[in-house]
Amino acid sequence: MSTPTSAEVLSRLVAFDTTSCNSNLPLIDYVADYLAALGIESHRIFDATGQKANLWATIGPADVPGTILSGHTDTVPVTGQEWTSDPFTLTPRGGNLYARGTCDMKGFLACALAAVPKMLAAPLARPIHLAFSYDEEVGCIGVIGLIDWLSVQRVKPDFCVVGEPTMMSLVVGHKAKRSMRITIRGRSCHSSLAPDGVNAVEYGALIVAKMKEIAGRLAASGRQDPAYDVPHSTAHVGMFNGGTALNIVPDEAVILGEFRVLPGEDPDALVAELSDYIGVLDAEMKALAPETGIELDVYAAFPGLATPAESVATARGLSLAAANGTSSVAYGTEGGRFSETLGVPTIICGPGSIGDAHKPDEYISEAQLQLCDRFMERLIDWSRAKQAA
Ligand SMILES: [Zn+2]
Repeated sequence: MSTPTSAEVLSRLVAFDTTSCNSNLPLIDYVADYLAALGIESHRIFDATGQKANLWATIGPADVPGTILSGHTDTVPVTGQEWTSDPFTLTPRGGNLYARGTCDMKGFLACALAAVPKMLAAPLARPIHLAFSYDEEVGCIGVIGLIDWLSVQRVKPDFCVVGEPTMMSLVVGHKAKRSMRITIRGRSCHSSLAPDGVNAVEYGALIVAKMKEIAGRLAASGRQDPAYDVPHSTAHVGMFNGGTALNIVPDEAVILGEFRVLPGEDPDALVAELSDYIGVLDAEMKALAPETGIELDVYAAFPGLATPAESVATARGLSLAAANGTSSVAYGTEGGRFSETLGVPTIICGPGSIGDAHKPDEYISEAQLQLCDRFMERLIDWSRAKQAA
Protein backbone atom coordinates (compact mmCIF):
# COMPACT_ATOMS: atom_id res chain seq x y z
CA MET A 1 0.00 0.00 0.00
CA SER A 2 1.10 3.60 -0.47
CA THR A 3 2.41 5.31 2.62
CA PRO A 4 -0.20 7.64 4.16
CA THR A 5 0.71 10.94 5.81
CA SER A 6 0.03 11.50 9.48
CA ALA A 7 -2.87 13.82 8.56
CA GLU A 8 -4.39 11.07 6.38
CA VAL A 9 -4.14 8.53 9.20
CA LEU A 10 -5.57 11.12 11.60
CA SER A 11 -8.61 11.62 9.37
CA ARG A 12 -9.32 7.89 9.69
CA LEU A 13 -8.78 7.80 13.46
CA VAL A 14 -11.08 10.73 14.28
CA ALA A 15 -13.90 9.17 12.24
CA PHE A 16 -14.28 6.54 14.99
CA ASP A 17 -16.36 7.91 17.88
CA THR A 18 -14.22 6.52 20.68
CA THR A 19 -15.77 8.54 23.49
CA SER A 20 -14.73 6.62 26.62
CA CYS A 21 -18.25 5.18 27.11
CA ASN A 22 -18.13 3.54 23.62
CA SER A 23 -16.33 0.44 22.41
CA ASN A 24 -12.96 1.29 20.87
CA LEU A 25 -12.81 -1.99 18.93
CA PRO A 26 -13.62 -0.52 15.48
CA LEU A 27 -10.61 1.81 15.84
CA ILE A 28 -8.40 -0.98 17.18
CA ASP A 29 -9.47 -3.21 14.25
CA TYR A 30 -8.55 -0.43 11.82
CA VAL A 31 -5.09 -0.08 13.42
CA ALA A 32 -4.56 -3.85 13.45
CA ASP A 33 -5.56 -4.09 9.77
CA TYR A 34 -3.26 -1.20 8.89
CA LEU A 35 -0.36 -2.93 10.66
CA ALA A 36 -1.23 -6.35 9.23
CA ALA A 37 -1.01 -4.89 5.72
CA LEU A 38 2.56 -3.96 6.62
CA GLY A 39 3.24 -7.45 7.95
CA ILE A 40 3.05 -6.52 11.64
CA GLU A 41 1.12 -8.58 14.15
CA SER A 42 -0.97 -6.87 16.84
CA HIS A 43 -1.82 -8.17 20.26
CA ARG A 44 -5.11 -7.09 21.86
CA ILE A 45 -5.59 -7.00 25.63
CA PHE A 46 -9.33 -6.83 26.25
CA ASP A 47 -11.31 -5.44 29.18
CA ALA A 48 -13.70 -7.67 31.18
CA THR A 49 -16.64 -6.93 28.84
CA GLY A 50 -14.70 -7.69 25.66
CA GLN A 51 -15.93 -4.35 24.26
CA LYS A 52 -12.66 -2.45 24.65
CA ALA A 53 -9.06 -3.37 24.08
CA ASN A 54 -5.50 -2.15 24.35
CA LEU A 55 -3.33 -2.79 21.32
CA TRP A 56 0.34 -3.75 21.50
CA ALA A 57 2.53 -4.14 18.44
CA THR A 58 6.26 -4.43 17.97
CA ILE A 59 8.23 -3.16 15.00
CA GLY A 60 11.78 -4.46 14.90
CA PRO A 61 13.47 -7.20 16.93
CA ALA A 62 11.38 -8.42 19.88
CA ASP A 63 14.29 -9.84 21.85
CA VAL A 64 16.01 -6.58 22.85
CA PRO A 65 14.74 -3.65 24.95
CA GLY A 66 13.11 -0.89 22.94
CA THR A 67 10.93 2.20 23.01
CA ILE A 68 7.21 2.32 23.80
CA LEU A 69 5.06 4.88 21.99
CA SER A 70 2.10 5.18 24.34
CA GLY A 71 -1.24 6.81 23.62
CA HIS A 72 -4.90 6.45 24.49
CA THR A 73 -7.57 5.83 21.86
CA ASP A 74 -10.51 7.18 23.88
CA THR A 75 -11.72 10.76 23.90
CA VAL A 76 -13.98 12.93 26.05
CA PRO A 77 -17.61 13.41 24.93
CA VAL A 78 -18.82 16.14 22.58
CA THR A 79 -22.20 16.23 24.35
CA GLY A 80 -23.43 19.75 24.96
CA GLN A 81 -20.55 21.33 23.02
CA GLU A 82 -21.04 23.74 20.11
CA TRP A 83 -18.82 22.64 17.19
CA THR A 84 -18.28 24.69 14.01
CA SER A 85 -17.83 21.48 11.99
CA ASP A 86 -18.63 17.80 12.54
CA PRO A 87 -16.43 16.61 15.45
CA PHE A 88 -15.89 13.22 13.75
CA THR A 89 -14.76 14.59 10.38
CA LEU A 90 -11.23 15.98 10.12
CA THR A 91 -11.75 19.52 8.88
CA PRO A 92 -8.84 21.75 7.81
CA ARG A 93 -9.20 25.49 8.47
CA GLY A 94 -6.36 28.01 8.43
CA GLY A 95 -3.50 25.54 8.96
CA ASN A 96 -5.34 23.68 11.71
CA LEU A 97 -7.09 20.31 11.62
CA TYR A 98 -10.33 20.20 13.61
CA ALA A 99 -12.04 17.13 15.15
CA ARG A 100 -12.54 15.49 18.54
CA GLY A 101 -9.33 13.83 19.65
CA THR A 102 -7.00 15.61 17.20
CA CYS A 103 -4.78 16.94 19.97
CA ASP A 104 -5.81 14.57 22.79
CA MET A 105 -4.41 12.41 21.40
CA LYS A 106 -5.09 10.80 18.05
CA GLY A 107 -2.60 13.20 16.42
CA PHE A 108 0.24 11.41 18.17
CA LEU A 109 -1.19 7.97 17.32
CA ALA A 110 -1.46 9.07 13.67
CA CYS A 111 2.19 10.20 13.55
CA ALA A 112 3.31 6.91 15.12
CA LEU A 113 1.26 4.85 12.61
CA ALA A 114 2.33 6.94 9.62
CA ALA A 115 5.97 6.36 10.62
CA VAL A 116 5.67 2.55 10.65
CA PRO A 117 6.72 2.08 6.99
CA LYS A 118 9.87 4.12 7.75
CA MET A 119 10.52 1.99 10.84
CA LEU A 120 10.31 -1.13 8.68
CA ALA A 121 12.60 0.34 6.03
CA ALA A 122 15.23 1.45 8.57
CA PRO A 123 15.50 -1.42 9.67
CA LEU A 124 15.50 -1.09 13.45
CA ALA A 125 18.20 -2.55 15.71
CA ARG A 126 16.07 -1.67 18.75
CA PRO A 127 12.32 -2.19 18.56
CA ILE A 128 9.61 0.45 18.67
CA HIS A 129 6.42 -0.69 20.35
CA LEU A 130 2.96 0.77 19.88
CA ALA A 131 0.89 0.78 23.09
CA PHE A 132 -2.60 2.11 22.40
CA SER A 133 -4.97 2.07 25.37
CA TYR A 134 -8.63 2.71 26.24
CA ASP A 135 -10.34 4.40 29.21
CA GLU A 136 -7.57 6.91 29.86
CA GLU A 137 -10.02 9.79 30.12
CA VAL A 138 -11.86 8.06 32.94
CA GLY A 139 -8.81 7.70 35.18
CA CYS A 140 -6.00 5.94 33.24
CA ILE A 141 -7.75 2.62 33.89
CA GLY A 142 -7.51 0.76 30.58
CA VAL A 143 -3.73 0.69 30.43
CA ILE A 144 -3.56 -1.30 33.70
CA GLY A 145 -4.32 -4.55 31.82
CA LEU A 146 -1.59 -3.76 29.31
CA ILE A 147 0.93 -3.00 32.07
CA ASP A 148 0.04 -6.29 33.83
CA TRP A 149 0.61 -8.16 30.57
CA LEU A 150 3.89 -6.34 29.89
CA SER A 151 5.15 -7.04 33.40
CA VAL A 152 5.29 -10.79 32.66
CA GLN A 153 6.93 -10.51 29.23
CA ARG A 154 10.50 -11.68 28.90
CA VAL A 155 12.01 -8.46 27.55
CA LYS A 156 11.18 -5.16 29.23
CA PRO A 157 11.30 -1.97 27.14
CA ASP A 158 13.78 0.60 28.48
CA PHE A 159 12.15 3.84 27.34
CA CYS A 160 8.60 5.13 27.00
CA VAL A 161 7.20 8.17 25.22
CA VAL A 162 3.68 9.17 26.22
CA GLY A 163 2.33 11.39 23.46
CA GLU A 164 -0.04 13.59 25.44
CA PRO A 165 -0.16 17.13 24.05
CA THR A 166 2.89 19.15 25.18
CA MET A 167 3.42 21.24 22.00
CA MET A 168 6.28 18.77 21.40
CA SER A 169 8.15 20.10 24.41
CA LEU A 170 9.65 17.68 26.91
CA VAL A 171 7.66 16.97 30.08
CA VAL A 172 9.21 14.78 32.77
CA GLY A 173 6.86 15.17 35.72
CA HIS A 174 3.25 15.22 36.85
CA LYS A 175 1.33 14.71 40.06
CA ALA A 176 -0.26 11.51 41.31
CA LYS A 177 -4.02 11.43 41.76
CA ARG A 178 -6.56 9.65 43.94
CA SER A 179 -10.25 10.04 43.04
CA MET A 180 -12.66 9.23 45.86
CA ARG A 181 -16.38 8.63 46.19
CA ILE A 182 -17.64 8.98 49.76
CA THR A 183 -21.14 7.68 50.40
CA ILE A 184 -22.85 8.67 53.64
CA ARG A 185 -25.94 6.74 54.76
CA GLY A 186 -28.02 8.39 57.45
CA ARG A 187 -31.47 7.76 58.93
CA SER A 188 -34.40 9.68 57.53
CA CYS A 189 -37.26 11.26 59.51
CA HIS A 190 -39.46 14.36 59.51
CA SER A 191 -37.37 17.45 60.14
CA SER A 192 -39.52 18.42 63.12
CA LEU A 193 -38.13 15.27 64.77
CA ALA A 194 -34.55 15.94 63.55
CA PRO A 195 -32.78 14.56 66.65
CA ASP A 196 -34.38 11.14 65.94
CA GLY A 197 -32.68 10.97 62.54
CA VAL A 198 -29.05 10.81 61.47
CA ASN A 199 -28.38 13.62 59.01
CA ALA A 200 -26.22 12.39 56.11
CA VAL A 201 -25.68 15.92 54.75
CA GLU A 202 -24.41 17.20 58.09
CA TYR A 203 -21.88 14.35 58.34
CA GLY A 204 -20.93 15.00 54.73
CA ALA A 205 -20.31 18.66 55.56
CA LEU A 206 -17.81 17.58 58.24
CA ILE A 207 -15.94 15.55 55.61
CA VAL A 208 -15.92 18.48 53.18
CA ALA A 209 -14.53 20.66 55.98
CA LYS A 210 -11.84 18.04 56.69
CA MET A 211 -10.83 18.10 53.01
CA LYS A 212 -10.60 21.90 53.20
CA GLU A 213 -8.43 21.59 56.31
CA ILE A 214 -6.08 19.14 54.57
CA ALA A 215 -5.94 21.41 51.50
CA GLY A 216 -4.94 24.36 53.68
CA ARG A 217 -2.21 22.36 55.40
CA LEU A 218 -0.79 21.11 52.06
CA ALA A 219 -0.65 24.68 50.75
CA ALA A 220 0.89 26.13 53.89
CA SER A 221 3.35 23.49 54.99
CA GLY A 222 3.46 20.71 52.37
CA ARG A 223 6.30 20.13 49.92
CA GLN A 224 6.71 22.83 47.28
CA ASP A 225 7.96 22.30 43.73
CA PRO A 226 8.18 25.48 41.63
CA ALA A 227 8.15 23.38 38.41
CA TYR A 228 4.36 23.14 38.85
CA ASP A 229 1.75 25.88 38.29
CA VAL A 230 0.31 24.90 41.66
CA PRO A 231 3.58 24.17 43.47
CA HIS A 232 2.08 21.97 46.21
CA SER A 233 -0.23 18.97 46.55
CA THR A 234 -3.95 19.72 46.57
CA ALA A 235 -7.17 18.37 48.10
CA HIS A 236 -10.45 19.23 46.43
CA VAL A 237 -14.18 18.41 46.61
CA GLY A 238 -15.85 18.52 43.21
CA MET A 239 -19.36 17.31 44.06
CA PHE A 240 -21.50 17.13 47.19
CA ASN A 241 -25.05 15.88 46.69
CA GLY A 242 -27.62 15.07 49.36
CA GLY A 243 -31.12 15.63 50.61
CA THR A 244 -34.49 15.79 48.89
CA ALA A 245 -36.57 18.38 50.78
CA LEU A 246 -36.24 20.86 53.63
CA ASN A 247 -38.56 18.93 55.91
CA ILE A 248 -36.81 15.57 55.57
CA VAL A 249 -33.66 14.61 57.47
CA PRO A 250 -31.54 13.34 54.56
CA ASP A 251 -30.57 9.67 54.60
CA GLU A 252 -27.95 9.86 51.86
CA ALA A 253 -25.16 12.17 50.72
CA VAL A 254 -22.42 11.56 48.17
CA ILE A 255 -19.12 13.41 47.89
CA LEU A 256 -16.63 13.23 45.03
CA GLY A 257 -13.21 14.44 46.04
CA GLU A 258 -9.59 14.10 44.97
CA PHE A 259 -6.01 14.44 46.07
CA ARG A 260 -3.38 15.54 43.53
CA VAL A 261 -0.01 14.90 45.02
CA LEU A 262 3.52 15.95 44.07
CA PRO A 263 5.95 13.16 43.17
CA GLY A 264 7.78 12.20 46.34
CA GLU A 265 4.74 12.69 48.58
CA ASP A 266 2.49 9.78 49.49
CA PRO A 267 -1.07 10.10 48.14
CA ASP A 268 -2.21 7.04 50.08
CA ALA A 269 -1.16 8.64 53.37
CA LEU A 270 -3.66 11.43 52.64
CA VAL A 271 -6.37 8.89 51.78
CA ALA A 272 -5.54 7.09 55.05
CA GLU A 273 -5.80 10.33 57.02
CA LEU A 274 -9.24 11.03 55.54
CA SER A 275 -10.25 7.42 56.07
CA ASP A 276 -9.28 7.57 59.77
CA TYR A 277 -11.38 10.69 60.22
CA ILE A 278 -14.30 9.03 58.42
CA GLY A 279 -13.89 6.02 60.74
CA VAL A 280 -14.50 8.25 63.76
CA LEU A 281 -17.64 9.75 62.16
CA ASP A 282 -18.82 6.30 61.10
CA ALA A 283 -18.60 5.01 64.68
CA GLU A 284 -20.47 8.07 65.96
CA MET A 285 -23.26 7.52 63.41
CA LYS A 286 -23.54 3.79 64.12
CA ALA A 287 -23.89 4.54 67.85
CA LEU A 288 -26.98 6.56 66.94
CA ALA A 289 -28.38 4.09 64.38
CA PRO A 290 -26.60 0.87 63.40
CA GLU A 291 -27.81 0.92 59.78
CA THR A 292 -26.01 4.21 59.09
CA GLY A 293 -22.39 4.80 58.18
CA ILE A 294 -19.87 6.08 55.67
CA GLU A 295 -18.01 4.33 52.87
CA LEU A 296 -14.89 5.64 51.15
CA ASP A 297 -14.12 4.24 47.71
CA VAL A 298 -10.97 5.19 45.80
CA TYR A 299 -12.43 4.63 42.33
CA ALA A 300 -9.52 5.87 40.26
CA ALA A 301 -5.85 6.40 40.95
CA PHE A 302 -2.68 6.95 39.04
CA PRO A 303 0.91 7.38 40.13
CA GLY A 304 2.89 10.54 39.61
CA LEU A 305 5.78 10.87 37.20
CA ALA A 306 9.20 12.22 38.18
CA THR A 307 11.85 11.33 35.63
CA PRO A 308 15.11 12.81 36.96
CA ALA A 309 16.58 15.75 35.03
CA GLU A 310 19.99 14.10 34.83
CA SER A 311 18.72 10.67 33.67
CA VAL A 312 19.47 8.89 30.39
CA ALA A 313 15.74 9.04 29.55
CA THR A 314 15.65 12.82 29.92
CA ALA A 315 18.77 13.24 27.77
CA ARG A 316 17.26 10.95 25.14
CA GLY A 317 13.97 12.86 25.27
CA LEU A 318 15.74 16.19 24.85
CA SER A 319 17.51 15.05 21.71
CA LEU A 320 14.42 13.37 20.19
CA ALA A 321 12.27 16.44 20.88
CA ALA A 322 15.11 18.81 19.87
CA ALA A 323 14.31 20.60 23.12
CA ASN A 324 16.61 22.40 25.49
CA GLY A 325 14.67 22.17 28.72
CA THR A 326 12.08 20.18 30.61
CA SER A 327 8.90 21.01 32.46
CA SER A 328 6.21 19.44 34.64
CA VAL A 329 2.47 19.52 34.01
CA ALA A 330 -0.69 19.75 36.07
CA TYR A 331 -2.59 16.95 34.32
CA GLY A 332 -2.01 13.23 34.79
CA THR A 333 -1.01 10.67 32.18
CA GLU A 334 -0.41 6.97 31.75
CA GLY A 335 3.29 7.80 32.13
CA GLY A 336 3.14 7.31 35.90
CA ARG A 337 2.10 3.69 35.38
CA PHE A 338 4.82 2.91 32.84
CA SER A 339 7.37 4.55 35.09
CA GLU A 340 6.31 3.55 38.60
CA THR A 341 4.47 0.27 38.04
CA LEU A 342 6.52 -1.15 35.17
CA GLY A 343 9.83 0.58 35.95
CA VAL A 344 10.32 1.95 32.42
CA PRO A 345 11.91 5.43 32.26
CA THR A 346 9.25 7.67 30.75
CA ILE A 347 8.89 11.08 29.15
CA ILE A 348 5.84 12.94 27.87
CA CYS A 349 6.05 14.60 24.48
CA GLY A 350 3.26 15.01 21.94
CA PRO A 351 1.76 17.39 19.41
CA GLY A 352 -0.86 20.02 20.21
CA SER A 353 -1.71 22.00 23.32
CA ILE A 354 -3.47 20.57 26.37
CA GLY A 355 -5.25 23.94 26.42
CA ASP A 356 -7.12 22.89 23.26
CA ALA A 357 -8.04 19.44 24.56
CA HIS A 358 -11.56 18.52 25.73
CA LYS A 359 -13.02 21.72 24.22
CA PRO A 360 -15.42 22.30 21.31
CA ASP A 361 -13.47 22.87 18.07
CA GLU A 362 -10.53 20.84 19.36
CA TYR A 363 -7.74 21.01 16.80
CA ILE A 364 -4.13 20.30 16.05
CA SER A 365 -2.03 22.50 13.81
CA GLU A 366 -0.46 20.96 10.72
CA ALA A 367 2.85 22.41 11.98
CA GLN A 368 2.57 20.41 15.22
CA LEU A 369 1.88 17.18 13.31
CA GLN A 370 4.98 17.85 11.21
CA LEU A 371 7.09 18.42 14.35
CA CYS A 372 5.84 15.08 15.66
CA ASP A 373 6.71 13.44 12.32
CA ARG A 374 10.29 14.80 12.81
CA PHE A 375 10.32 13.36 16.33
CA MET A 376 9.42 9.94 14.90
CA GLU A 377 12.18 10.25 12.28
CA ARG A 378 14.76 11.04 14.98
CA LEU A 379 13.52 8.11 17.04
CA ILE A 380 13.86 5.82 14.02
CA ASP A 381 17.39 7.12 13.37
CA TRP A 382 18.35 6.51 16.95
CA SER A 383 16.73 3.05 17.03
CA ARG A 384 18.50 2.05 13.82
CA ALA A 385 21.97 2.43 15.33
CA LYS A 386 23.53 -0.85 16.37
CA GLN A 387 25.35 0.61 19.36
CA ALA A 388 22.47 2.70 20.69
CA ALA A 389 23.14 3.99 24.19
ZN1 LIG B 1 -5.07 12.58 26.78
